[in-house]
Amino acid sequence: MRNKRIVKIGDLKIGGKEKILVQSMTKNKTEDYLNLVRELKRLEKGGCEICRIAIKTDKAIENLKKIKEAKIIKMPIVADIHFDYRLALKAIKVGADKIRINPFNITKEKEWREIIKMAKDFNIPIRIGLNAGGIREREKDIERIILDRLKRTIDFFESENFYDLVISAKISEPLSLINIYEEIDKNYQYPIHLGLTETGLPFEGGIRSGVAMGVLLYKGIGDTIRVSLTGDSLLEVVAGFEILSALNLRNDLPVIISCPTCGRCEVDLENIVKEVKKEIFKLNIKKKIKIAIMGCEVNGPGEASHADYGIAFGKKSGIIFIKGKIIRKEPKEIIVRKFIELILREKIS
Ligand code: SF4
Repeated sequence: MRNKRIVKIGDLKIGGKEKILVQSMTKNKTEDYLNLVRELKRLEKGGCEICRIAIKTDKAIENLKKIKEAKIIKMPIVADIHFDYRLALKAIKVGADKIRINPFNITKEKEWREIIKMAKDFNIPIRIGLNAGGIREREKDIERIILDRLKRTIDFFESENFYDLVISAKISEPLSLINIYEEIDKNYQYPIHLGLTETGLPFEGGIRSGVAMGVLLYKGIGDTIRVSLTGDSLLEVVAGFEILSALNLRNDLPVIISCPTCGRCEVDLENIVKEVKKEIFKLNIKKKIKIAIMGCEVNGPGEASHADYGIAFGKKSGIIFIKGKIIRKEPKEIIVRKFIELILREKIS
């Protein structure tokens, strides 16, 4: 259950009763400074709270240093390290707010010891981030292998008096993920980074992640989440907030619902909803408000009136509702603009 040890990452905290933070990972090459910064800024603007970047080369270290020195990104940056423990040492030195290491490919205790010493010197946490992809053979009991390796790693870190840890153990099978994280939750007091790995394209990956993480989060397991998707990193952030919001674990973003449409629908509802979503995003609203966009008068007025803000469309026009009250009727060509103006007038941002 939640109430793990609290770990500080930059200015943020995870664990305890802190809010569950949403993170992502950049897709641009870390060596490509301009595109990397562009992506980080876009993620930050889109609500991403912690971001990980892949560190594979000295050029990547150089760019991490530049970003930290220029202070152009406020959210904490996590250096993702595999294979070469020396990159972990360098990333810590140039200002990474946290590092992630994978004990399936950095395996020597001597190397772990050096990383621990450097993390202590710079007072930053380490994520022990296992991934089933690190198990090469077609092993029978992958879950057991992951948990055993995790135990061995944590035992070593604790024997070195290092407790500033975050734990993850990702796998692509939702049911295995649930088993693994339930075990982790039972056995350790460290904050948990939750995430299903190698999930696929955004639609399928979002559903699979939502199912697996939803079960765990509902049981109180998870202190920070990343929805890994093959695609735009910003969608990972959107999906993360949608999962948390559906479980009432984060109440600081608007929720837009809309009907599935059917033969009764008289408008191009899909594009209207996309337009509303885009405009709402620009308002940068930091609280949970329910916005309902409905295609006709059958369920439309009912659903729209249950929401904080709603539109129910008719043939040529739509009715705008605010907190259950009909506010006005507008022609469909201008209704989205009028709707957004009304929301703005309520000063909810
Ligand atoms: S609200 Fe109207 S258009 Fe939308 S699904 Fe229901 S009946 Fe169909």
